[in-house]
Amino acid sequence: MKKYQGKGVYGAVAVGKVSVFKRADAAPERLQIEDTASEIARLETAKEKAIEELSAIYEKALAEVGEENAQIFEIHMMMVEDDDYNEAIVDMINEEGVNAEYAVAVTGENFANMFASMDDSYMQARAADVRDISRRIIACISGGGDENLSFDDKVIICADDLAPSETVSLDKDKVLAFVTAFGSSNSHTAILARNMNIPAIIGVGEQFLSEICDGDTAIADGFTGQFICCPDDETLCAAMKKMQEESDKKALLLNLLGKENITLDGTKINIYANIGSVSDIGAVLSNDAGGVGLFRSEFLYLENTDYPTEEQQFAAYKKVLEEMAPKKVIIRTLDIGADKQADYFGLEKEENPAMGLRAIRICLTRPEVFKTQLRALYRASVFGNLGIMFPMITSVGELEQILAICEDVKKELTAENAEFSDGIELGIMIETPAAAIISDKLAPMVDFFSVGTNDLTQYTLACDRQNPHIEPFCDTHHAAILRLIELSAQNAHKFGKWIGICGELAADTSLTETFLKMGIDELSVSPSFVLRVRDAVRKINLKSQV
Ligand code: PEP
Ligand code: MG
Repeated sequence: MKKYQGKGVYGAVAVGKVSVFKRADAAPERLQIEDTASEIARLETAKEKAIEELSAIYEKALAEVGEENAQIFEIHMMMVEDDDYNEAIVDMINEEGVNAEYAVAVTGENFANMFASMDDSYMQARAADVRDISRRIIACISGGGDENLSFDDKVIICADDLAPSETVSLDKDKVLAFVTAFGSSNSHTAILARNMNIPAIIGVGEQFLSEICDGDTAIADGFTGQFICCPDDETLCAAMKKMQEESDKKALLLNLLGKENITLDGTKINIYANIGSVSDIGAVLSNDAGGVGLFRSEFLYLENTDYPTEEQQFAAYKKVLEEMAPKKVIIRTLDIGADKQADYFGLEKEENPAMGLRAIRICLTRPEVFKTQLRALYRASVFGNLGIMFPMITSVGELEQILAICEDVKKELTAENAEFSDGIELGIMIETPAAAIISDKLAPMVDFFSVGTNDLTQYTLACDRQNPHIEPFCDTHHAAILRLIELSAQNAHKFGKWIGICGELAADTSLTETFLKMGIDELSVSPSFVLRVRDAVRKINLKSQV
């Protein structure tokens, strides 16, 4: 029996046979070529094939994991067409007279190394994408495909790492789980696994691949992050039991559709869902969420090559409000910067982007961008039940500026006879320690708070959320974080305002009771977690607690 500890990125248990994932050779031989023109023609044909494949992967991802998560494959298509990348390949073929596979491999590696050496963690992550597309083009040149991604039986895939396109190409019905030597829980691959509901463990360490074989029986426990190969009978029985319990639980959860989020002693809360694009609404409704607690509006900016116009934004907000009506939809204003970059913003490179010009700081330094979004939001408000939420607040002064801009927008719209609802709730995210500490000053100025535990954890514990090496130091249950949430709840209630949590911690059912005791009014989680949290709420009795 061999045990490995990694990090679970999707909580579920799988027992089955191992299949070690082997890639097509990514290091092709260097050959001398006389006819460079026909070599370039081979390259062009392969690129067309790569684009076709990526477009099919994009469609598959769109159907399985939603628009926001599928976007990475649009970026891959753009990378295949990138002028600098292509010029470098063609120059190498012409100048050195080498074969196309070799030129792509060398150029891909050069570009990947360049990205990897950048300070910005978002750009560093692009290294994996360049390697991914280069591998694909090489496979297309040499006529190879993704054969290794289809399996006859259900298997636990074990790999050094999986590229996003590989993850999406996996046949979901044949994959029991995947386990990787490397990877970070914020990587696209981990996010895709979560959205595809595949048990997944990352970062179990490099040596595991040399110690396991195809066909070995193994257990992947996405709850604990433990991967056990060749388990003894007792361990195997325990895992089978846990798996059965989980599947019974899942079936039971479906019974909770349509039920209230109410504790045994009668305390009710709202359970809402987090979304990243309009196409996620289907999952919100099928999981019976009471509303949308966080609509990350950045997707509108990230998927465009220029600032989205007021009309483009209006159409998206109107659609989501109409589809959710009469349920509440809280749309968060632009949270770009740090790990989410759009070139046309022309943001300068920063030493510490997570603490730099991001989110509301960009909106306040570029009020015209902010106003365009607010105008679209206010105009869309008549089509449903809108709340607007502002990210990365640290001071009363910022909030005063924001509210003044909202008033300006309302005046402008009134002067233009444009309609907007007078019942829009305005709230702020509590995602900096500063906001939590001065929450008594901020509460009277807004209608609600929503705690962003992802950033609150990052800033409170000084743990960069993008850095996989510091995960061991990042204790999301740290007393400092819980105290800041409790303080914010007390201050919200002191002024008669409601408070929710929309960071990942909202779905951590080991804390549901703690949150309810603090008086948290709303938990906003990924659509697939709504029923799990409802289940946890319905088992709690606040009155029987000491
Ligand atoms: C958060 O910080 O907890 C949050 C919900 O926002 P995001 O993850 O988009 O930064
Ligand atoms: Mg945040």
